[in-house]
Amino acid sequence: MPDLSRPLFIGNEIYRRANFGAKHPLSVPRVPATIDLIRALGWLSDDAYFESFPASHDDILRFHHADYLDALRQGERDQALPEDLRQRHNLGKMENPIHDTMYTRPATSAGAMLAAADLLAAAPPNGTRAIVYSPAGGTHHGRPDRASGFCYLNDLALAILRLLDHGVRNIFYVDFDAHHGDGVQDAFHDDDRVFTVSIHEDGRWPFTGAVDDRAGGHARNVAVPRHFNDQELDMIVDRVVAPIGQALRPDMVVIQCGADALADDPLSRLELTNNALWRAVGRTAALADRVLVTGGGGYNPWSVARCWTGVWATLNGFDIPDRLPDSAEAVLRSLTWSRAAGRNPPDHWFTTLADPDIVHPVRDEIWQIIDTVCADTGAIGPLNSDIVVAR
Ligand SMILES: [Zn+2]
Repeated sequence: MPDLSRPLFIGNEIYRRANFGAKHPLSVPRVPATIDLIRALGWLSDDAYFESFPASHDDILRFHHADYLDALRQGERDQALPEDLRQRHNLGKMENPIHDTMYTRPATSAGAMLAAADLLAAAPPNGTRAIVYSPAGGTHHGRPDRASGFCYLNDLALAILRLLDHGVRNIFYVDFDAHHGDGVQDAFHDDDRVFTVSIHEDGRWPFTGAVDDRAGGHARNVAVPRHFNDQELDMIVDRVVAPIGQALRPDMVVIQCGADALADDPLSRLELTNNALWRAVGRTAALADRVLVTGGGGYNPWSVARCWTGVWATLNGFDIPDRLPDSAEAVLRSLTWSRAAGRNPPDHWFTTLADPDIVHPVRDEIWQIIDTVCADTGAIGPLNSDIVVAR
């Protein structure tokens, strides 16, 4: 087994197979482009890379229902499903199409997350850092009995359950995806060992996660308006994520770092640069000794690959160069995207890792959201610690 004396990257070659269908937002290369870019930068030694294997059927049953897994396997085998199964499990439409790895691919990302959970749970809890990065993970919408929002399985719920089964208590889950982390929040709605914070676009699918939704007490939802900017995310990490993390003193931090809140992403109206997400990941990762970081959404192949490569650099403390070396630029120039924005991409999508830094003011509505999210927060989590939030 790999050791965690340095951050560990878990990947798999299965993600090179394009299989969601040309029109699906997930038809773009994400994990392969990230791995190729990280390798081109010389940032992935052999001992930092671990090839995952699929989760077993029994392991997946820890969260998902047997009849749903049967339907996924039947769909993968037959490339078709009867109408009643499509309806029951939300399969076979544009959102969650039937495709030739519809069971194996999510089972592989679930296997990566279970391996990560096993490794992190076994890491000594005595102040040494242990970090695992699984950019294929992060399927935060998956439900026990149905697919949702391109997520067939919920690899985060499986990993967190595995951590709890290993005796890890007090897990802090922070979700930076543009969409509400509804599947994870609901999975642990009645479990005060897991505290969830989701920062997502207000009024966007799945339309849950309002600012007053606390899921029984151990969740917070920061639903942000359009044009959400870097300084606003910095402030939310300052005033919401960091104070909660400091009060919880979690055994483990799980970070979902979807890349769809970036300004260049087609599926949200949020306007972050990757610099803000890297700062947020770095500061959140510092809240515990043991850290699991995943991907999530992200539908522009250039912005996803650059963002997730920078996440790896952040976790390792690598310096991000102002201009990419030729080998890394070649990886980015090899990507294609069928959307209009892919026909004539701006030069910095090829030549840089970091987006141009833009400084915006923090809008009044963000302060109001922070006040609402933090209001009446007398006690949180299993430690009953006070959160002190000063304006
Ligand atoms: Zn998303």
